[in-house]
Amino acid sequence: MPLPKPMQDLLSLPTASYVETAVMDYLARACRRLAHVNIKYDRYHNLLAHYRWKPRAVTPLAFVAHTDHPGFVAREMLDRRTVRAAFRGGVKPEYFPGARVRFWSDGRWIKGRVVKLTRVAPAHVPGWSGRPEEAMLRVAADVRPNAPGMWDLPEPALKSNIVTARGCDDVAGTAAMLTLLQRLSRKRARCEVYCLFTRAEELGFIGAIAAARVRTIPKRLPVISIETSSELPNARVGDGPIIRVGDRAAVFTPHLTAFCRRVADELVERRKSFKYQRKLMDGGTCEAFPFIAYGYAATGVCVALGNYHNMDTGRQKIASEYVSLGDWLRMVDLFEALVRDERGPAPATPAMRARVDALFAEADAETMLRA
Ligand SMILES: [Zn+2]
Repeated sequence: MPLPKPMQDLLSLPTASYVETAVMDYLARACRRLAHVNIKYDRYHNLLAHYRWKPRAVTPLAFVAHTDHPGFVAREMLDRRTVRAAFRGGVKPEYFPGARVRFWSDGRWIKGRVVKLTRVAPAHVPGWSGRPEEAMLRVAADVRPNAPGMWDLPEPALKSNIVTARGCDDVAGTAAMLTLLQRLSRKRARCEVYCLFTRAEELGFIGAIAAARVRTIPKRLPVISIETSSELPNARVGDGPIIRVGDRAAVFTPHLTAFCRRVADELVERRKSFKYQRKLMDGGTCEAFPFIAYGYAATGVCVALGNYHNMDTGRQKIASEYVSLGDWLRMVDLFEALVRDERGPAPATPAMRARVDALFAEADAETMLRA
């Protein structure tokens, strides 16, 4: 079975922080073809797609996913076969020596290999020996400055419902958002949604911070951060998309997480094949955090990711990342249900108050007065 087209196409493109052009251009082209979708770029070249067709719900949602993945960016050729390159993103130093890399330069891949790390910053994650920032690589041909480099891993593939790619995080998330827009547009669904495709998340959600600062998403809109997030012992690949109650940095806006859960529960009722998980995914920090920091209501939805940031911890080697196609497809189903839900997120207190008051009314609470 082939991969869904947006996934196949997007996962084969080169990308790294600040050099996301190939992914961004693909998304923009695909969105331009869709009825009732408008696109614009903010000042920082984050891409905002807006679908609107006779909406019934009061508040539109905004989904956010990042277009970069941990990788190299070529700086300069030191001699005919050696390039100095920056590394952007969180991969442990021990994975670098001798690892195979490919740069996308002037419309073709140029293969290479890491010779040595030339700059390693102090780690800010416990248990890490450092954070690689620059390397020297042997390459087969001239690489132009600013060319994105990725680990030299196979093209995206599907086997036993598992999608493998050079980088799922978070191009698979952007593919899910594009698929949502395509579905809504094809069905002429009566709803409204914003999809923000951000840059440079792997450097500390720089694109999302920029977007929050310039209000690329209107502030009254609830934000749902879409991710592929490191698989955890209690949040496995294949067990369904995950509604996140938080990440490593923050607990998400409770009423928005509750909204996602209510809609997911209703989807379970309607469709026997739907399943989901609700977890604290604290293997990483996601873009909900900067939006919360800037006063937005924000939560997150993700699929569990294997070989997070290309680190196969078992073999201690660089490897393809992977996600479950079933999780990914159900995540898109959940997006659609969230967007088409006519009630929308309820303010936290009244909904919770109604629930506890119902419990109180059912119980023989008066006995407490006599005790
Ligand atoms: Zn990510």
